This record gives sequence, structure tokens and C-alpha cells, in this order.
Amino acid sequence: MKSDEIILETSAKLDIASVLEEIAGEVAPLVGQGEVASYIPRLARVPANRFGMAVATLDGRLFSVGDAEERFSIQSISKAFSLTLALEALGGELWKRVGREPSGNAFNSLVQLERENGIPRNPFINAGAHVIADVILSQTPKPLETLLEFVRDRSGNAEVCIDEEVASSEREAGFRNAALANFIRSFGNLDNPVEDVLDFYFHQCALQMSCTDLARAFLYLANEGRCQRSGESVINPERAKRINALMLTCGTYDAAGEFAFRVGLPAKSGVGGGIIAVVPKVLTVAVWSPGLDEKGNSLAGATALDLFTTLTGLSVF
Ligand code: GLN
Repeated sequence: MKSDEIILETSAKLDIASVLEEIAGEVAPLVGQGEVASYIPRLARVPANRFGMAVATLDGRLFSVGDAEERFSIQSISKAFSLTLALEALGGELWKRVGREPSGNAFNSLVQLERENGIPRNPFINAGAHVIADVILSQTPKPLETLLEFVRDRSGNAEVCIDEEVASSEREAGFRNAALANFIRSFGNLDNPVEDVLDFYFHQCALQMSCTDLARAFLYLANEGRCQRSGESVINPERAKRINALMLTCGTYDAAGEFAFRVGLPAKSGVGGGIIAVVPKVLTVAVWSPGLDEKGNSLAGATALDLFTTLTGLSVF
């Protein structure tokens, strides 16, 4: 039996529903703790006392607990979708414009850009996501429609949409993102007008999805780049591998080392309180709880994922 088959067989024997119930019970005291992101005014209104978790497996099962069907603002989780589109469009050329190293700085920090000549450290910090947005704008006549169609296809939910109120709330408060994008443009690493790049970026961050939507949508990263339902290629296996690697090393910002230590999975978080994690060749797990730790990752969500890999033994290590 191949090692992939052994992993799949092991996961098939796991009682994932009971694992999720146990996790929900254990993290209950943490739910509501931490700070809801308030620098985007519209997000400050989201109640903190929410917790949802969903698991989608490559053999087509779905498990969930708590508020797993409630839609929330996926924020930076969207950066994994946009990286997929940009990498498909540009291939290896993309790495001339954005790096692949953890930044060790906050996701919205300006400090490295000057020293590193406007080449953002990685595609998951805000500066990197602006460059990715610029690539998509240059490659696609209708960039937002393309992104939305991609996310709807991946999640199998045609109702996934963008919350215009969140997008405009972020635009109104987006001084730091505007500074970053202008700075990158000054180094010649944006081809499109800063306004257009920011508009796309704020809209991608304002995608509204639930844990079950996210768990389904990211199955292609667990499935070597193929759609779980049809088996069709979404992105080639080598690129899927690289996106997972970047999620492991950079997906939770300057907490990526601690996150790898605790959870041991490729993951991408957002300040809306969502985190998506990938167990390659087995499943995806999405979690949402809006209270954030000081690095901007969901407090209860990170603990829930720590418990998930500990209880199931499913991690990349
Ligand atoms: N839209 C947010 C911002 O640019 C995304 C940040 C995040 O989720 N970490 O600040």
C-alpha cells in the first residue's frame, strides 16, 4: 500500500465529528477573548463570541461544528486564492517581483520595503498581496469577476459574494495600504494605477465565506492542485506544493514559526478571525472565531487547530 493510501485510510477511520465536538468544548472558554479587528471599522461590529469549524476530506465528506455556516469576512485568506491565479498566469516569473521568505514583521509593516527595493518579502503580507493584485489586473480584463468566479467554483457555492460595505470601510481607513502601494509603485513594482490595485485588494479581502465554504474551496491544495469533485487540474502539482510551503512559512504572518510549532500545517489566516489549514493528501480544515491575538490571528482558532492536529495526529510533521 502506498503511503498516501495509508494516510487516507487512517483519516477514514478517524471520528472527525467527535473530534470537532471535543475541540469546540475545549476552546469554549477562549471564544470571545482577544480583540476583534477594529482598524477596519465595519469589522469592529462583528460579535466576538462566535466559533465555527469545518473539515472537508478528499474522499468527499464534510464535518462541522458551531457557527460553521455563518459567513464572515475572509480578509487575508483571500491572498491564497489570488496567489493561485497570479502563479497560474505568470509561473516562475512571479518570483522576480515578490519574495518567498517570512517577513518577521507585521503583515502591514512598511519597514522592509525600502531596504529591499520595493520587492515584498512574500505574497501573504499586504505589500506582497498588492503586487499579486497588480499581476491579476494586468492579466485579466475583468479581475474581480475572475476572482469571484474562481472562488465560487472552488467552493461549489454560487452565492459567495463580496461585502461592498466592508470593502469601502477598508478603503476609507486604508492609509497604511495606500502608503504601501504607493511605495511599491515608486520602485516600479506596480504596473497599474495604485487606486486600481487597492480597489481590487480591498474587494478581495471583503469576500464573505463560511467555514464550510472555505474548507471545500481549498481542497485543491490538499489534492495536489486538482479539484476534489471533478479531478480536473486547478493548478499544477508543483505550484500547489509551493503555495502550501508558503502558507506554512508565511501564512500566519510573524507568528508563522509559532504556528508551525503548535499546529504543523500550511495555513492562511485573516483579521476577520478565519484560518484555513491544509493536511496535504487528506483534508482541509477551516476555523472562525473573530477574537484575535496580538499578531492578528484568531485566538480560539489557532488553539482549535493545535488541538485538531494533536488529537488526530494529522500534521505534516
Ligand atoms: N484587509 C486587511 C488589511 O489589509 C487584511 C489583513 C489581514 O487579514 N491580515 O489590513
